[in-house]
Amino acid sequence: MKYMDEYRDAELVKGVIEKIRRTVTRPWVLMEICGGQTHAIVRHGIDQLLPPEIELVHGPGCPVCVTPLELIDKALAIAARPDVIFCSYGDMLRVPGTGRDLFSIKAQGGDVRVVYSPLDAVKLAKQNPDKQVVFFAIGFETTAPPNVMSILQAQRLGLTNFSILVSHVRVPPAIKAILGSPSNRVQGFLLAGHVSAVMGYWEYPPLVDEFQIPMVVTGFEPLDIVQGILKTVELLEAGKIEVANAYSRAVNFDGNLPAQKTINQVFEEVDRKWRGIGMIPMSGWGLRPEFDAFNAEKRFDVEAITADESPLCIAGQILQGLKKPHHCPAFGKQCTPENPLGATMVSTEGACAAYYRYGRDRIPQVLLADN
Ligand code: SF4
Repeated sequence: MKYMDEYRDAELVKGVIEKIRRTVTRPWVLMEICGGQTHAIVRHGIDQLLPPEIELVHGPGCPVCVTPLELIDKALAIAARPDVIFCSYGDMLRVPGTGRDLFSIKAQGGDVRVVYSPLDAVKLAKQNPDKQVVFFAIGFETTAPPNVMSILQAQRLGLTNFSILVSHVRVPPAIKAILGSPSNRVQGFLLAGHVSAVMGYWEYPPLVDEFQIPMVVTGFEPLDIVQGILKTVELLEAGKIEVANAYSRAVNFDGNLPAQKTINQVFEEVDRKWRGIGMIPMSGWGLRPEFDAFNAEKRFDVEAITADESPLCIAGQILQGLKKPHHCPAFGKQCTPENPLGATMVSTEGACAAYYRYGRDRIPQVLLADN
């Protein structure tokens, strides 16, 4: 398939890795911010092919992983109501809340449905006027446009039985929090291509100036990823501090301006708690007050629910690049994809799930050396 096959060409990938090998002269710690990139890196063994000077650490760019436990508990409380049809993307169904998940609510008779778009949930609301239809609106900047479209569509249709449970997070404040931490190890960032396709990369130059580290917009295929790593290493080795775009076939500096305008019409920046990490100021989007009628937290009065994380789970440290999944004492023991303790073992983009699925056999030989 055009634009995919050529970016999976093993010989081209090997050639770029050889260039990285020739360019690097000292150790560098790079973070890929996006969970989709983490999975591609582990799945294709890119981390093993790189020269030993390059260490990749895995960032918090997995929306399922960073949705706070208390918000999962709020979703469970709403989904258990007999008057509710609760709609979600499939990967949220197995994310553990406090003692249960959406699957168990469904098994107990709750009307929990997997949808492929929030607009499917709007359709359900139109077809079921006697029910309250709630969409679980989680995600980064990438999923914000369809979520705000669902609100505008429901408003246009005059629906009073549609609402969304919002947990939107934003990449730039998360990067700022990681770089501002006294324990930060990251020296260069691979920025997420799909987020940048919507938002552009105009928000990053101030961060680059403030923290003096390079950032490179990077795609998702193996060739995209190694080209992003090569560009970052070239900048680091040359002492150049700037934002570069290694994914120009999909991303420009400004991004999708009509999408950004629509997002700002419905959402405003809010403080947001990240699972395992804690509160990051102005790191999320929430509904503007004029859209309160579509706010499920207010409609179902679940705003006061709070929750405590499992003390065993170190996902927060993993998502800040401080630890790797195999450093967690529960990895592969108390915590597996069948019995997950934390969201990073459930999500298709979670680092723990990636290490379990693709890297388990090689962990004793390669990765436990730094344990
Ligand atoms: S292996 Fe499980 S318990 Fe450990 S950090 Fe990952 S999700 Fe949390």
